[in-house]
Order: sequence, then structure tokens, then C-alpha cells
Amino acid sequence: MNLSFDNTEVAFAHKTNADLKKAYRLFQTFGSPFLVKYGPKLTNLALNFGLPIKGIIKKTLFAQFCGGETIAESFPSAKQLYENGIGAILDYSVEGEGTGENFAKAFGELQKVIIEATDKPEYPFAVFKCTGIGNFQMLANVTSALRNGAETTYRDELDYQHFRSRFEALCKLAYENGTKLFVDAEETWIQDAIDEITYQNMANYNIDNTILYNTIQLYRKERIPEMKYRIEEARIGGYKIGFKLVRGAYMEKEAARAAELGYQNPIHRSKKETDDDYNAALKLCFENRDVVSICAGTHNEESSLILAHLLESGEIDRNDDRFWFAQLYGMSDHISYNLAASGYNVAKYLPYGPIKEVLPYLSRRAQENSSVKGQAGRELTLISAELKRRRLV
Ligand SMILES: Cc1cc2nc3c(=O)[nH]c(=O)nc-3n(C[C@H](O)[C@H](O)[C@H](O)COP(=O)(O)OP(=O)(O)OC[C@H]3O[C@@H](n4cnc5c(N)ncnc54)[C@H](O)[C@@H]3O)c2cc1C
Repeated sequence: MNLSFDNTEVAFAHKTNADLKKAYRLFQTFGSPFLVKYGPKLTNLALNFGLPIKGIIKKTLFAQFCGGETIAESFPSAKQLYENGIGAILDYSVEGEGTGENFAKAFGELQKVIIEATDKPEYPFAVFKCTGIGNFQMLANVTSALRNGAETTYRDELDYQHFRSRFEALCKLAYENGTKLFVDAEETWIQDAIDEITYQNMANYNIDNTILYNTIQLYRKERIPEMKYRIEEARIGGYKIGFKLVRGAYMEKEAARAAELGYQNPIHRSKKETDDDYNAALKLCFENRDVVSICAGTHNEESSLILAHLLESGEIDRNDDRFWFAQLYGMSDHISYNLAASGYNVAKYLPYGPIKEVLPYLSRRAQENSSVKGQAGRELTLISAELKRRRLV
């Protein structure tokens, strides 16, 4: 197998020289601790005061990491990805206050995303976050009730019924339209409620095809036994199981809450333990491919190579629909474009939403890319390699 992620010509073929230079300057900016720390607050202030900075953000940070402000505006980005063999997963990235009005708005938007994905090959999946359509505290209380029989209030019961009917409506719509649907994973103290409802809906809708995918965070301890249990449950129940495998995005929050409330941190003690479990999860799913389909949501080169090798070893078609890779738009193009060029199934989360409302998402991307040793360093190294190859520096 000759898959390599070093080929920057393939990785950036879709970028013009000007685009590439712009991306280089943007990732360089992330190296400034001042800008990364205060940038989002200053931007918010400037937008509140009506200062004309929307255009600048839209052409820089937003253009790098988002598709557009609406579904329609995002389509050209999806089309460009599709022309390079990559799917797009519209991600409504608005993180509003948890009010009934916002839940109803997000629910309406998610229905549109699922319908949009129905007949457009550019969109192989849709995705949603449970906290976009349901109250966080209610999900935490239901999780406590599931774990240790804690009481839920009448208010929780009402909120849960609302959430449940929205969740089921999205699954039903996805099933009727044949759109595969990811449920994102969130904080551990609300996750049991999310898991429970997701597996119940898999039992209803994943009979002939894998429509619904739950997300497993491998930075959590004991996720492998949990996956084995769920796989057996699906086998006995006669339905298929979909997993999106990720490492996990809430590490600091998890540690802080565990320390504050005095319980054991549910996250692995080292990166290596997370990596080992992630790679073990890939193998577990591969071995159980009679009932399991996966999407490896990762920017990790080693894990991506491991899955690619597993497919070769099992003589499985590279584009077998049970195996997908996914990265975020604007990041790790060297993985996405090289995998796609070698014939694997690849998709990218394509966040969209009004600029002001996706600022929290953009600020997280800036934070994550601020460590020179981490992702930003890697992106900069790759972009400068390509700039050199094109003799632009
Ligand atoms: C398509 C896609 C979908 C995603 N969906 C979700 C989702 O639904 N829910 C969610 O929580 N996240 C989600 N993520 C984010 C994901 O969980 C990771 O935070 C992110 O992708 C970085 O991990 P990595 O595998 O790409 O790469 P790497 O850079 O190899 O790994 C970084 C990750 O390793 C783990 N880690 C780092 N240091 C340590 C340590 N000391 N001890 C233990 N673990 C450590 C953390 O999870 C950290 O994010 C998604 C990512 C992608 C690409």
C-alpha cells in the first residue's frame, strides 16, 4: 500500500497560490497568545458596537473553517470537496443559550440539513448535538437517574419528553430519507442519557442499513468494554450499529469537574492510553464488521493509517460504505485529500451558521491551533512545504 500523508501537492491542489498564502498567514496568527486569548472577546465587542469587522472575519477565519452562513451559502464548499472525492457533513455550529426558542430553531435547521443531504451526493452524512435540541441540565439529571437512581423533577420529565420527541423525529426523518445521521458525543455527565436514547433508536432504524451512528470518545476509560456490550446487544437485537470514533474534546472540563466534585477523572491518564484505546477500537469494529459500521473522526495520522491498513489486510474495498474517515473543514487536508485520492471514503464536517453565532466554534479552532507543537505547527509545516514546492518562498 502506498498511502502517505506527506504529499502536499495532493493535499493542497484545491488551493490557489493566494489561498495558500492566506492560510499560512492565518495559522501564523494563531501563534500569537494575545490574539488567541483576547481576539474572540474583542471581536464580539466590535460586532456588538457595529464595527465593520464582519467582512474581515468572513474572508479569513470563517473562510478557513466554515462553509457559509446558511446551507445554500455552504454548497460551493461542499461541491469543491466533492470534486476532490470528499463528502461534506453540514454542521449547524450555532451555540446559543439553552432556551426553548433556540432548541426549536436548531431543530428546524437540523431537519433542513437532513433533507438537504437526501438527494445530494455531496452530503454523505448529517450530524447533530443533543444539547442543541435539549436542555443540558435535564440531560445531566437523566444521566444521574440512569446511573444511580437519582430523582428527576417534573420539569425534567417535561423537558425530556420534548427532547425525546425531537430526537426521534430527526431519526425518523433520516430513516425515511436514507440520510446517515451522527449523534455527537458531549460531556460524560450528560452522555448516558444521550447513549440510551441513541441505542434505542438504532434498534428501530438500523435494521437494513446503518442510519444512526453514536459517537464513542476513546479518551474515556472503559469505552472498549462498553462498545463490546453494545455490539453484542445489537447482534442479539438483530440491528446494525454505527459508531463515530473520536478521542474526545472536553478533557480539561472533565478533569476540572472531577476535581471539584471529588470523583475519579473519567479520562485516561495519558495520551498513549487514549491512542491505544482508539486504535483498539478501530480493530474491534473491523473484526465485528458484520454488524458494525464506523467513521473514524480523527486528525491523527497513525490511527488513519491503521484503519487504511486494516481494510487492505481484510481485502475490503477501500470505498466499502461501512468504513469512513472524517476530519474538520480547514484542518488536516493532508489526511483528507490523500485518503480520498487513494480511493477511501472521506468526509469533512462543514460548520455553518451566522458569523456572530459561530464565533465560539471559531475561537475553539483558534485555541486548538495555537500550540506550535500541536496542530498549528503541523499545518504550518505542511503549508510551507507546499509553498516551497510551488517556489512561492
Ligand atoms: C469529524 C470529527 C468529529 C468529531 N466529533 C466529536 C464529538 O462528537 N465529540 C467529541 O468529544 N469530540 C469530537 N471530535 C473532536 C475529537 O474528539 C478530538 O478532540 C480531536 O479530533 C483531536 O483528536 P485527534 O484524534 O484528531 O488527534 P490527536 O491530536 O492525536 O489527539 C488529541 C486528543 O487526544 C486526547 N488527549 C490529549 N492529551 C491527552 C492526555 N494527556 N491524556 C488523555 N488523552 C489525551 C484528547 O482527546 C485530545 O483531543 C471530532 C473530531 C472530528 C475530526
